[in-house]
Amino acid sequence: MAADGFDAVVVGSGPNGLSGALTLAAAGRRVLLVEGARRFGGGLRTEELTLPGHAHDVCASVLAIAVASPAFRDLGLNVEFAHPPVPAAHPLDDGPAVLLHRDPARTAAGLGRDGVAWLETVGAAARAGLPLVDTLLAPFGVPRAPVALARFGPLALLPATVLAGTVFRAPRARALLAGMAAHSMLDLRAPVSSGYGMMLASLAHLVGWPVARGGSQTFADALVARLRELGGEVVSGQWVGDLAELPPARTILLDVTPRQFLRMAGPRLPARYRERLSRFRYGPGAFKLDWALSGPVPWRDPAVAGAGTVHLGGTLAEIAHSEAEVAAGRHPRRPYVLVVQPGAADPTRAPAGGHTLWGYCHVPNGSGVNMTEAIEAQIERYAPGFRDLILARSARGPAELERHNPNLVGGDIGGGLAGLWQFAARPVLSPHPWRTPLRGVYLCSSSTPPGAGAHGMGGREAARLALRET
Ligand SMILES: Cc1cc2nc3c(=O)[nH]c(=O)nc-3n(C[C@H](O)[C@H](O)[C@H](O)COP(=O)(O)OP(=O)(O)OC[C@H]3O[C@@H](n4cnc5c(N)ncnc54)[C@H](O)[C@@H]3O)c2cc1C
Repeated sequence: MAADGFDAVVVGSGPNGLSGALTLAAAGRRVLLVEGARRFGGGLRTEELTLPGHAHDVCASVLAIAVASPAFRDLGLNVEFAHPPVPAAHPLDDGPAVLLHRDPARTAAGLGRDGVAWLETVGAAARAGLPLVDTLLAPFGVPRAPVALARFGPLALLPATVLAGTVFRAPRARALLAGMAAHSMLDLRAPVSSGYGMMLASLAHLVGWPVARGGSQTFADALVARLRELGGEVVSGQWVGDLAELPPARTILLDVTPRQFLRMAGPRLPARYRERLSRFRYGPGAFKLDWALSGPVPWRDPAVAGAGTVHLGGTLAEIAHSEAEVAAGRHPRRPYVLVVQPGAADPTRAPAGGHTLWGYCHVPNGSGVNMTEAIEAQIERYAPGFRDLILARSARGPAELERHNPNLVGGDIGGGLAGLWQFAARPVLSPHPWRTPLRGVYLCSSSTPPGAGAHGMGGREAARLALRET
C-alpha cells in the first residue's frame, strides 16, 4: 500500500468513490484513492469486449443521471455527452413504437388520449426541474422542491402497475411507463416502482439520455484527472481485503456494499450493527450481452433506429409478469430486455460501418442460467434478421459480473434491493446512513442513499458528513 501522510483514503473508484474523493480533495484534504481493478471507474468502465475497435460500456452506458446530478453537473469536465435523436423507444407487436422524445409535447402526441395525462404527470415532474432532481438525489437533505415533492411523492410511492393502470387508459402509455419503471429491478406491483419510472422518464425531458462520446470510461477518466489536479493520489490494482491494510488516515470512505464491508471490518464492528448489515437484501441479478454487429439493428419500425435506449418486452402486463417472475426467483421465458444503441449518438464505438449493441435482462440473484437465447429472441421479435448481423458477442451472467466488480453481488447491479424499505434504510435506518460505528469510516457506495445510478451522490453525501465529523 502507498505511503502514509494522507488525511483521507477512499477505497473504490466507481462514481461514488470518485465523487467522495473529489469532495474531500476540494475541501483541502490530502486524498489517496485505492482501486482493486486494473482500471478506474467501477461501473463506468469501457472495454473491447468483443472485437478490436469495438468499445463496449461494461456497465453504465446512459448517463442521464450523471449529467443531472449535483455531484457532477457543475464540474465542467472535458467530456462530450452525445444525445441520440430519440432518448428511448418502446416497440410493440402492433403499430408503431412508442417514442420518448426530449420534448414532452412530442411524446404526448404519440400517446393519443393519454397524452394529457403524460404531460400532467411525467411532463409536470420534468417542469419542476433540477430542484426536484436534487431533492430526490439527496433524500436526507432539506428538500429544494417541497411543493413538487408533495405533488409527485404520493404518485411515486405507488406500484407502477397501479399508476400505469389508473392514470393511463391505453396500452401505449402503460407500456412506456412499465419499461421505465422496470429499470428499478423491482416487481412492478411493489410500492415506489412507479417513482423510478417517473424520475427516469422526466430526466429524458429535462436533460436527455446521453452517452459519453468514446464510452463511459472517458467520464471516469475525467473524474480521475480532476482528482489528480486537486492533489489526490490514485492507485489501481490493489484489492483491499481488510481495513488494517490501509495507511492511517482520519477519514476512510468505502465504495463497497455491506457484504464486502463485513468482510473488511467484521470483528471490529459491534455485533448489533453487523447483524443489521447482514439483513441488507440484495436485488435480482443481471444477465448482460454485448454484441459487435455488421450493421444497424433492422428494427421493424425504423424510428427505433434513432433511439439510444430501447425497452423490449411488450405490454404493461407482459413486463410486469417478467419482473414478477424474477422477483419470485424464476427466469422469465420472454424477459423484459433493456437495450442501448450507443451508435445512435456516438459513431466512435465501432469501426466504420460496424455497430455495437448493449443489452441485459433481470435474473434471480446469483442465477447461473444462460439467457442469451431468450434475450436475442426478444430482439428478433421486434427486429427480424438481427441474428444475421452478429459478428461477435460477450455474455456475462451474475458470476462474471461479480468477477468484473465485487460490488455486483450475485449480479445485482443496483447495490441492493431498491424497494421502499431499503430506499429509506440504506444500508441501515439512520439519519446518517453513511456513518459506520468505526470512527472516521463511512460507506459511500450505491448501497447508501440515494441508491443505484452513476450520480455520485452517495460519495458526495458521505464525504460531506465526514468533513463535518473528522
Ligand atoms: C450492467 C449494468 C448496467 C448499468 N447501466 C447503467 C446506466 O446505463 N446508467 C446508470 O446511471 N447506471 C447504470 N448502472 C448502475 C451503475 O453502474 C452503478 O449504480 C454505479 O456504478 C454505482 O457506483 P458505485 O460508485 O457505488 O460503485 P461501482 O461503480 O460498482 O464501483 C465500486 C468500485 O469499488 C471497487 N472495489 C470494490 N471492492 C474493493 C476492494 N476491496 N478493494 C479495492 N477496490 C474495491 C470496484 O472494483 C469498483 O471499481 C449499471 C450497472 C450495471 C452493472
